[in-house]
Amino acid sequence: MDEMAVQGEMLIGAGARAGTAASFHAFDPTLQTVLEPSFAGGTLADVDQACALAAAAFDPFRATGPEARAAFLEAIAVNLEGTAEAIVSRAMAETGLPEVRIRGELGRTTGQLRLFARVVRDGSYLDARIDHALPERTPPRADIRLVHQPLGPVVVFGASNFPLAFSVAGGDTASAFAAGCPVIVKAHHAHPGTSELAGRAIQQAVADCGLPEGTFALLFGSGTEIGVALVADPRVQGVGFTGSFAGGTALMKVAQQRAQPIPVYAEMSSINPVVLLPGALAERGAAIGAAFAGALTLGAGQFCTNPGLVLALEGSDTAAFVAGAKGAIAEMKPATMLTGGIHNAYRLGVDALVANPRTTHVIAGDPGEGLVSQPNLFAVTAEDLMADHSLTAEVFGASSVLVRCKDAAQLKTVIDELEGQLTAAIHVAASDLDLVRDLLPHLERRAGRVLFNGFGTGVEVCDAMVHGGPYPSTSDGRSTSVGSLAIARWLRPVCFQDAPDALLPPTLQDANPWKVPRRVNGVRG
Ligand code: NAP
Repeated sequence: MDEMAVQGEMLIGAGARAGTAASFHAFDPTLQTVLEPSFAGGTLADVDQACALAAAAFDPFRATGPEARAAFLEAIAVNLEGTAEAIVSRAMAETGLPEVRIRGELGRTTGQLRLFARVVRDGSYLDARIDHALPERTPPRADIRLVHQPLGPVVVFGASNFPLAFSVAGGDTASAFAAGCPVIVKAHHAHPGTSELAGRAIQQAVADCGLPEGTFALLFGSGTEIGVALVADPRVQGVGFTGSFAGGTALMKVAQQRAQPIPVYAEMSSINPVVLLPGALAERGAAIGAAFAGALTLGAGQFCTNPGLVLALEGSDTAAFVAGAKGAIAEMKPATMLTGGIHNAYRLGVDALVANPRTTHVIAGDPGEGLVSQPNLFAVTAEDLMADHSLTAEVFGASSVLVRCKDAAQLKTVIDELEGQLTAAIHVAASDLDLVRDLLPHLERRAGRVLFNGFGTGVEVCDAMVHGGPYPSTSDGRSTSVGSLAIARWLRPVCFQDAPDALLPPTLQDANPWKVPRRVNGVRG
């Protein structure tokens, strides 16, 4: 695909046009300058058109066989690669994220699309089941067949902190397409140019693969108007969101208040507790501290898996941990944050921790200048943490709180009182194993991913990944937004009873023309 320039246009069906609502510009947070061209939000008429086209596209798109749908996902990946230079430079300008990170994220995005192409070809996700009729049984059993079918058009909200991998062509879009759902993306206003370029790569793939034009649309505009209108539209059947707790819960409410409520898969706030056990601290406290500093500051701390809470026992060697973290942070340059709004929220969160009489400010990195994230570590006692819940609020950026617990019982109480989390990490040595066994069920109840001797930043895209967790880290802890299981969010089981073979979906016909794996009369095929 030829490289293309950002034109400031929304993509609806096969067309592209500028919005007619309030105009805005992207902003370069590093240079603090406005980026051309200007964009403008869509209108309710644009929402209506995108939804009408998506509804019309649903039946033909979901009827595509595994090969056609996989080829579509792969075509998007190829088109993104074809326009990589334009996407990378625009994303760097719009986010302040460094080139190596953006290139890595592009690779992750195309890798995700190809993973879902493999999932579609494999067909196991359909979980097809056939229970043949048993006419001689008393009472007789009908012929009963189940397959997972796509929900319908899905709305995806692009995330500010991953302009590619959790945005227009990101994991929510890839998994919804894989399931057979048309997608309408509400772009994040922080990276509209990147959104347009990624959107054009998808639009081109829709055309090249001969798919209905309503398979994809990209709209700009405010969340409270365009976002709410999309979620409220009766033709929309599911929502994917990554962002703030306030935004996610507002959209959940809109979805619940519809005549037909629909699922909202919102990934929201998480402080990702890290437990440091005494043996691990004694053995390698400084090294853990240095690794922690790296995780804390990755992407200027703007990761949903950022380690915002560190739990240790009083009397263990937290001094080595703090010294290791301090040494590593002293070497770091402050990193630019994504937007003025996110920077402001970060400063307010840090200022509140500084002003809180219960905290000690143990590490303050270089404050830098401009829209940068100063790394910070605060310390509190477990009593104080439990007495003041503001201390466990997510501060989106490179800020964390070290909690000293009197004993293992208090450590478990702190964990039990935490809200749901995306990740929980535990650092252990051989001498800690009895304690770990005791703590593990507590951590598992609180988090979607429990990891040993590491940090939750860096979410591998693979079959076994869970990037989700109990509320409020996500709206529905039974799901994941990363990895192949993410497809399950956009499917529902449908059962056909005594249906003539020719009228069944190909996945359930006797001849199994798509060769999908099936469980027939209880036996996996
Ligand atoms: P955000 O404010 O939640 O915005 C995300 C998207 O949701 C935007 O498209 C926004 O539209 C829309 N939206 C927000 N509030 C809405 C509402 N009440 N109704 C309908 N739509 C709404 O998130 P953000 O801009 O990415 O960052 C703000 C904060 O979110 C950060 O400071 C951080 O605390 C948190 N955050 C968390 C994560 C995470 O993974 N946990 C990731 C990113 C951000 P507009 O275009 O109108 O803003």
